[in-house]
Amino acid sequence: MQLTVWTYEGPPHIGAMRIAASMRAVHCVLHAPQGDTYADLLFTMIERGERRPPVSYTTFKARDLGTDTAELLKTRVRETYERFKPDLLLVGEACTAELLQDQAGTLAASMGLPVPVVPLELSAFSRQENWGASETFYQVVRRILQQQVPAPGAEPRASVRERCAGRRPTANLLGPTALGFRCRDDVVEVTRLLDAIGVDVNLVAPLGASPADIARIPAADFNCCLYPEVALAACSWLERMFKLPTVKAIPIGVGATRDFLREIGALTGIDVDAALEAGASRLPWYSRSVDSTYLTGKRVYIFADATHAIAAARICAEELGFKVVGLGTYSRELAREVRAAAALYGIEALITDDYLEVETQVAGLHPELVLGTQMERHIAKRLGVPCAVIGAPHHVQDCPARYAPQMGFEGTNVIFDTWVHPLMMGLEEHLLTMFRGDFEFHDEAAPSHLPAAVGKGPVGSGQQPADTSASAADPLDTDHQPLTTGWSPEAERELKKIPFFVRGKARRNTELFATERGIQMITVETLYDAKAHFGR
Ligand code: SF4
Repeated sequence: MQLTVWTYEGPPHIGAMRIAASMRAVHCVLHAPQGDTYADLLFTMIERGERRPPVSYTTFKARDLGTDTAELLKTRVRETYERFKPDLLLVGEACTAELLQDQAGTLAASMGLPVPVVPLELSAFSRQENWGASETFYQVVRRILQQQVPAPGAEPRASVRERCAGRRPTANLLGPTALGFRCRDDVVEVTRLLDAIGVDVNLVAPLGASPADIARIPAADFNCCLYPEVALAACSWLERMFKLPTVKAIPIGVGATRDFLREIGALTGIDVDAALEAGASRLPWYSRSVDSTYLTGKRVYIFADATHAIAAARICAEELGFKVVGLGTYSRELAREVRAAAALYGIEALITDDYLEVETQVAGLHPELVLGTQMERHIAKRLGVPCAVIGAPHHVQDCPARYAPQMGFEGTNVIFDTWVHPLMMGLEEHLLTMFRGDFEFHDEAAPSHLPAAVGKGPVGSGQQPADTSASAADPLDTDHQPLTTGWSPEAERELKKIPFFVRGKARRNTELFATERGIQMITVETLYDAKAHFGR
């Protein structure tokens, strides 16, 4: 075991809490010591949930360890049922409580409560949060639908096309959870997308579903597995037991959204060509626009949960023209899928839950953009590289009040804005290129509104252009104090490559950096050392 400061995933009981906090009329009882009671913080601080998470704890203390902790658990389960009257109880253990071997779930299930009790075996020391969420959702689905599983030899379920003859097909959207990345808005977007091709949503789960809703899952014609980390196990069981097909394409990105529509078209017999034509995303055109082509070939490093990492790599490579130089995930359960995706870009996937390993790889690959979790945002900030968050774990600012899906065609617009616009800030180089020869805007011209430039005449007027190079003070730099430090001709040339509106500041900072270190002659190296220093 290794001690760490930050982790991508919490222990598996956090996953169980996410399922409870996503659903209605469900309560989770955790056998847990004092101090492990942080669910309220998680769900109210980061996601700003409107209600307190439905989680209760036994909260045993050190002095309880010599007593009957199993009795403590039974008392808490009984009190919780009486107080909250849920339609279903989840009962499991936090890591420390697992060591007590009270078998919390089994014990609670034997108490004869009038509602289903789902015992959770969460393997706290070998599994993690997403596995815990997946296992909990699977156990809830299985427990509620067990009675509906067709008996062996029962008449097989008709194909989706036969079932839907003369009516609109219906789909379940499975996988969205509390603390998932943009799940709330993705559900709205996917519902719209399906409606546009004539498919209705039967139910969404676990987000917003009650146990009674789960009982209606088999009424749908197919499932959409939107987040495999959470829903793949349940979808596979539903496919085996109920012959309920799963749509596996995940509609993040223009190409993947089209694949999603095509897969549904093939399953249901719906003609999706019109929807594919109408696909109202601005991403393809924006990606071809002049300011975006400036970014073509940008080196991108991607690390997140498997769903978002795979989707991001495809968008970068196929839709934005970036070069994927690194791809990885902490989702060990889906490592094979991420490895296969990485192979498409000629790289080897990094599968780890050690953020220091990720940091080392990012530093070594020198990407120009990092797409990751909150962890990679911290890493990228330390290394001075632009970054956008594409998946959980994420910060409060990635749970925006506004509508900001990742899925569907509107999701691709949001993605373009989030990933590309930060890269463009202050880099409107196509304008500098276009106007380079213009008498007002060429490289040597001074801004006309500054007194220092008056009378210095533009190129072609017979007068010498304003001297913004060498030892002369930059006209933008009105408080420039001449320094004893000099600039090598190469460093001066390098300085001129910096857009004029930030050149003055770059000169000032570099001279300050050099003076503080007693450097007499500023070289290209000094310029970049200063850039790195002030960029920290
Ligand atoms: S993202 Fe960083 S700052 Fe924000 S809550 Fe998490 S650890 Fe704290």
